[in-house]
Amino acid sequence: MTSCPKQIVHYMHEYLDGDIREEAKKELKFHIETCAECKKHFAELKKTIALVQSASHIEAPVGFTANVLALLPREGKKIGMER
Ligand SMILES: [Zn+2]
Repeated sequence: MTSCPKQIVHYMHEYLDGDIREEAKKELKFHIETCAECKKHFAELKKTIALVQSASHIEAPVGFTANVLALLPREGKKIGMER
């Protein structure tokens, strides 16, 4: 079993925050190259972050609201009848 330095995961987060020291970056890269476990973990982290970032940019497509409104039944009449 590989022993991973505790700070490696911490470095991953610093790296992804874009707030990492050059020294730590080197250590992180070196470890990732030699440790499949951490490489995988780092890839997962990057994937998650990319997903979150792309999700925050997603907007409803043009005409979305209009299409939804067109699909809705004319509720006014129905409710009036039930009452
Ligand atoms: Zn490791």
